[in-house]
Amino acid sequence: MSRGINTRCLHLEETEGKTDNYGALSFPIYQTATYAHPGVGQSTGYDYSRLQNPTREHLEKIVCSLEGGVDAFALSTGMAAITLLFELFKPGDHIITESDLYGGSIRLFDNVSVKNGLIFTHLNCSSDDVEVAVRENTRAIYLETPTNPMMNVSDISKIASIARKHDLILIVDNTFLTPYFQNPLQLGADVVIHSGTKFLGGHNDTLAGFIVTSNETIAEKLRFLIKTTGSGLAPFDSWLLIRGIKTLGIRMERAASNAIRIAEFLKTRKEVTKVFYPGLPEHPGYEIMKKQSKGFGAMLTFNVDSREHALKILSEVKMIKFAESLGGTETLITYPTTQTHADVPEEVRLRNGITPCTLRVSVGIEDPEDLIAELKDVFEKIGD
Ligand SMILES: *Cc1c(COP(=O)(O)O)cnc(C)c1O
Repeated sequence: MSRGINTRCLHLEETEGKTDNYGALSFPIYQTATYAHPGVGQSTGYDYSRLQNPTREHLEKIVCSLEGGVDAFALSTGMAAITLLFELFKPGDHIITESDLYGGSIRLFDNVSVKNGLIFTHLNCSSDDVEVAVRENTRAIYLETPTNPMMNVSDISKIASIARKHDLILIVDNTFLTPYFQNPLQLGADVVIHSGTKFLGGHNDTLAGFIVTSNETIAEKLRFLIKTTGSGLAPFDSWLLIRGIKTLGIRMERAASNAIRIAEFLKTRKEVTKVFYPGLPEHPGYEIMKKQSKGFGAMLTFNVDSREHALKILSEVKMIKFAESLGGTETLITYPTTQTHADVPEEVRLRNGITPCTLRVSVGIEDPEDLIAELKDVFEKIGD
């Protein structure tokens, strides 16, 4: 971890000085299902691509070095990553999760994981309730910080010390900030999750997921699980992720600087009743973010004064796309109520603060003047 993160996005130290692959700078796509063996009991190191593929392995090593783990796993989607990780648990295990999470994670936990016998307590992990919720059968704490979509911030080091005290695994979904801005493993987490579809891939062109861990025992179990369940990332998609990660730093910097400008602009509009961006000093998580992250990210959420205004904004945007997903080069606006969080029961949504007036923006890397100009235009139209 001695080199800077931008260098680590481009160069894998352990392969340097070698001119394998004819010296190609772009890592090859090993589009193969299987591998010929030199003889009985011998292997090139690869036997069958469900177990491992050189392109996927190269990507896993890069992501591992970015998060500072002992091993990383590349999966077909973020949800495949979380699903694989939850194979670590057995019926009767209790897990504490943040209540405001990506809608797909809530759907997985409350439908699939519960059916498999896991027991959940969902709570606001930025409060002091985490330790109180620990039971004899508690095995893990699962966080997002900032959360999707309400941007709640929790103190990773503080929760890590609770996890250590009670021998729990601390899992942090680091999709929103990426290792460029936040390194949960360095703050005491045991496992980091990513939707690689978002900022790591970064171009709205492919799906991927990652698990990174600092714990050798967990890594060993996950190696067994990925080869057994078979949701590893395909070679071509692995290559797209390797390519996307090369520009992670400059994309994150640009998108985050656009995000603060949009947050400031939204605050000036009378139709906007609240802006949730942790880079605003009035955000309750601002001081924690300054301590545990190198930047505030490119995601923001805001409330307008009526459902009608929310819907009108969605129908008036042009360059900014009304679409699900986040973390790509293009700016997207999302309506959590009918999109990302549609499957979360309404009372849970409302309790978490997601109302029909709530909109989420994933800020891209366009020129900030053009983003503000489009938003100005949209707000003028809804004022009519
Ligand atoms: C999108 C997302 C996921 C799920 O990832 P997919 O790649 O869509 O399966 C998980 N967590 C967060 C925070 C996300 O935004």
